[in-house]
Amino acid sequence: MLDYIVVGFGLSGLSFVEQLDLAGKSYKVYENYSQKSSRVAGGLYNPVILKRFTLAWQGDKHMEEAVPFYKHIETKLQQSFVSQLPVLRRFNAVEEQNAWFEASDKPFLNEFLSSELIRNTNSALEIPYQFGKVKHTGRINIEVMLSSYIQYLKTNNNFENSSFEHDKVILKEDHVEYDGIKAKNIVFAEGFGVKNNPFFNYLPLYGNKGEYIVIKSKALKLQDAVKSSIFIIPLGEDVYKVGATYNNKDKSPEITSVAREELQKKLERFMCVEYEVIDQVAGIRPTVRDRKPLIGTHPKYQNMHILNGLGSRGILIGPTVAKELYASIEKRIPLDQEIDIKRFEALR
Ligand SMILES: Cc1cc2nc3c(=O)[nH]c(=O)nc-3n(C[C@H](O)[C@H](O)[C@H](O)COP(=O)(O)OP(=O)(O)OC[C@H]3O[C@@H](n4cnc5c(N)ncnc54)[C@H](O)[C@@H]3O)c2cc1C
Repeated sequence: MLDYIVVGFGLSGLSFVEQLDLAGKSYKVYENYSQKSSRVAGGLYNPVILKRFTLAWQGDKHMEEAVPFYKHIETKLQQSFVSQLPVLRRFNAVEEQNAWFEASDKPFLNEFLSSELIRNTNSALEIPYQFGKVKHTGRINIEVMLSSYIQYLKTNNNFENSSFEHDKVILKEDHVEYDGIKAKNIVFAEGFGVKNNPFFNYLPLYGNKGEYIVIKSKALKLQDAVKSSIFIIPLGEDVYKVGATYNNKDKSPEITSVAREELQKKLERFMCVEYEVIDQVAGIRPTVRDRKPLIGTHPKYQNMHILNGLGSRGILIGPTVAKELYASIEKRIPLDQEIDIKRFEALR
């Protein structure tokens, strides 16, 4: 009998599996590569909402948990995928500069918002009102992290590259059975794929499609991430991710020309050098009606759990809520009501 089956290996699945590894639990992971949110993400960790200059929900707490978490995995897998990357917010007007100064004086935010304005020295960019700099930000190369973790799982025979079929689950009183495997618990970490999960698809996970274009420009020469109405994220070797879009109507997985045109238009408003679009990617962010994660145990089946709803900030939120889910299952420590799926019991 295994301790756990984990369905899905994006940021949620990885965050939970790491808890299992730390506790020495046995498990099997199922992954079918149907959802791409984690794999296409920009990979930025930044606790500040750069539209309004406010702290994201529990941003300071999540930063404290997440950065050491990813660094620990780097050491464990002997792979490098965490890098510091300053984020520069382009101001559109003097009023925005003033709002930034005001925010940088507030408790918690003052730790992240530098109160100095930064003058642009890059002739590839038009920045008439200077930049504000967010401190302690960085980037996780999620693709490298996930693929090296999967390699580690395969080496230990803990990974199945296959589609989990929910109708084959057999529910017993103190365990679940699936495809000849018995496990004490099952955790679903399927991102937007939860729509096909008959046990949890009553939850109000709406999804928001995001697309990036990937550009190459020798003339841009940017070291830091720049945030205007879109991000430019340097990936190295003159390549940059530009985006992302937000679309809550289109739930198809394909890239679109509409998104490409929108991103190019926004980019060309403040970047004035030549570039070439070399790629485009799309994924569905697992967003929830009340913008909080979906964590907890099925109201009827005590061995069945969910870790989902990380929205647009999976890197920061994932490690903390995975730890809390694990503690609620193994140590019966109640979940914070804000994230517990019990808040949606009436929808069942
Ligand atoms: C364009 C874009 C940019 C983003 N940028 C950032 C960013 O810069 N920083 C940040 O913090 N967040 C960012 N996000 C958000 C972040 O990517 C999400 O919060 C996070 O990826 C959610 O992770 P997840 O593991 O819950 O879902 P997913 O990444 O969707 O993972 C779910 C996994 O489950 C698998 N699966 C589903 N159903 C089954 C099944 N039946 N059988 C087997 N496997 C299954 C899927 O294949 C998938 O791998 C971005 C998202 C998008 C779309």
